[in-house]
Amino acid sequence: MIDLRSDTLTRPTDAMREAMARAEVGDDVYGEDPTVAALEERVAAMFGHEAALFTPTGSMANVLAVASLVAPGEEVLCESSAHIARAELGAHGAITGLTMRTWTGPRGQVDLTAIDAMHAPDMGPFFVRTAAVSVENTHNFAGGAVLPVDDLRALRAWADDTGTRVHLDGARIWNAHVATGTPFADYGRIADVLAVCLSKGLGAPVGSLMVGSADAIAEARVRRKRMGGGMRQVGVLAAAGAYALDHHVERLADDHAHARLLGEAVGVDPAGVDTNIVVVERPDAAAFVAGAAEEGVRIAAVGPRTVRLVTHLDVTRGDAERAAVVLSRLAAR
Ligand SMILES: *Cc1c(COP(=O)(O)O)cnc(C)c1O
Repeated sequence: MIDLRSDTLTRPTDAMREAMARAEVGDDVYGEDPTVAALEERVAAMFGHEAALFTPTGSMANVLAVASLVAPGEEVLCESSAHIARAELGAHGAITGLTMRTWTGPRGQVDLTAIDAMHAPDMGPFFVRTAAVSVENTHNFAGGAVLPVDDLRALRAWADDTGTRVHLDGARIWNAHVATGTPFADYGRIADVLAVCLSKGLGAPVGSLMVGSADAIAEARVRRKRMGGGMRQVGVLAAAGAYALDHHVERLADDHAHARLLGEAVGVDPAGVDTNIVVVERPDAAAFVAGAAEEGVRIAAVGPRTVRLVTHLDVTRGDAERAAVVLSRLAAR
């Protein structure tokens, strides 16, 4: 089976498992796991921020990150198909007690005109106060779309003018970096706080980080423990993440090339394939998925007329070529 359902399906490689087995560990709730501390320092420095916090999931990193900017009863603005709005099961409302309003950008893009029109500064006891804007790069449900860094810089300038904070959901910021060559620090600079995932295309089994100021991270460390996210000898997992950063970032270019190949095979406009995700509109999504499975290619329907293909570490060039043959035959039917 060639599994193109998600880039979360990767299994740790033998070399990654060796790095995990060798990791020096301690009790991280006591602040005594050197492997976790090193990963947190490394990732904070990559993005030009003071500190970072290792979390079990990207959703937890996002909840902690947004909560560092938005108080209960305040709002965050985000794009209508953002992961924080659609795929975190209401955590930001249920846990933090914030509200959300959304704009709809073609391919998940930033729409500063819409953001400015929605923005509500502190209007006393009349309207919910807009505390932050959240952006997602790359944008998952927009098919791995890259947000141009110039748009993010314009958002940063607007946020500074209006006293608004910026959260970047960078679950796949690695893909944006590889696709555009934009340095990580440039992405770090546009955000007050970020969340990044090691368990997507980078291939670690578990792990994400929240990145931000020392104060925000200190506060998030308390909130993480309150949520049951204090972890003990978790250096074994941080070691997988460090290994991924050493060995699995630049190779994302292969995943992007494989996605372009698959996109061409199913007749998707190449302008719509920025990174490792291909979104295919099919009137017969369920039948298309079933037909592919019969021929050894697992893909996912993400809507009644929408199919998603995702390339990753466990999909070789040969796999991508074989899948392209199967899918182009099915698409032509
Ligand atoms: C996967 C993902 C997350 C985090 O998901 P978890 O499954 O909680 O690790 C956050 N944002 C985006 C855009 C994602 O794709």
